[in-house]
Amino acid sequence: MWPGVIERYRAWLPVSEHTPVVTLREGNTPLVEAPGLLGRGKTLWLKFEGLNPTGSFKDRGMTLAVSKAKEAGARTVICASTGNTSAAAAAYAARAGMTCVVVIPDGRIAVGKLAQALAHGARVVALAGNFDEALAHVRALAEQHPALALVNSVNPFRLEGQKTAAFEIVDALGHAPTHLALPVGNAGNITAYGMGFRAYRDAGRIPALPRLLGFQAAGAAPLVLGHPVEHPETVATAIRIGRPASGERALAAVAESGGRVEAVTDAEILDAYRRLATTVGILAEPASCAAVAGVLKLEREGYFAAGDEVVVVLTGHGLKDPDTARAVSGVEPIRASSRAEIEALLELATPS
Ligand SMILES: *Cc1c(COP(=O)(O)O)cnc(C)c1O
Repeated sequence: MWPGVIERYRAWLPVSEHTPVVTLREGNTPLVEAPGLLGRGKTLWLKFEGLNPTGSFKDRGMTLAVSKAKEAGARTVICASTGNTSAAAAAYAARAGMTCVVVIPDGRIAVGKLAQALAHGARVVALAGNFDEALAHVRALAEQHPALALVNSVNPFRLEGQKTAAFEIVDALGHAPTHLALPVGNAGNITAYGMGFRAYRDAGRIPALPRLLGFQAAGAAPLVLGHPVEHPETVATAIRIGRPASGERALAAVAESGGRVEAVTDAEILDAYRRLATTVGILAEPASCAAVAGVLKLEREGYFAAGDEVVVVLTGHGLKDPDTARAVSGVEPIRASSRAEIEALLELATPS
């Protein structure tokens, strides 16, 4: 049985026999083929991280961060969040018997993520301010109050846990893909993939690093612009971040791999969302679709060559954000009160 990412990759992680492993058996997410999104001779895989226990990749980092917080004797975990970090922190804290405090930008997180944090019993603070301000507050608070364990991705254990996704991709394919594409917000996850692939390369498991392709939303693209964005705006709330905490490390990892960081518009993100939902059969949250949009854009520009194998990380499940799902479909249920009415709506040609 799959034991969760700490037990599966224990030798690669900073744990000992004294670490109490707090797990929900996260990881082991599938690579789903997406034929038809790239041209002939190229392969596209979707690593569906929305199938983790709380519906996003954040669980990989949270299992390790909460286990290490518990090992250190902390009773309370705290984080700032665009939503998925708070959902994961709340769930793993519940599992560990710890208290969880999350600070979210008021009115700016998807309804499913807020519901999760509340349901798992976290104390949720809705801050009048954006994510970058929330993060600054919790960092300062964690410094002043040693009993609080900060579980944002500035906590090094988060990235250590998240790097296991790179291991899983190589282990599943039997080799490294040529490209790895993902959305970039606080830039922790792309840094973590860089760490994972580098660890496997240094151990001789893969000959070279996949090129890392990071995509930001055009209204929240500090790494593309080269400076912080004071008022980040995008439909993809999970990457609505103007001052990425791991920005420099992320750019170094991208450069080392020969990859790139680019921006996609909200219209491109929503087009990709629709295409994924209606032709591939996967509902991924808008932030995840930024990576799909980015890969489709690079494909139009002729960036990929025959033989390329691209893995796109779908970072979170589309059910997290039902408001966007409803808005994107753009239609309402059709009302009916009888079988005849339903039949009339079928508009079926009568078989002859
Ligand atoms: C957190 C998150 C991101 C951004 O990851 P970073 O590590 O902040 O760059 C992207 N998509 C989803 C669904 C997320 O929850």
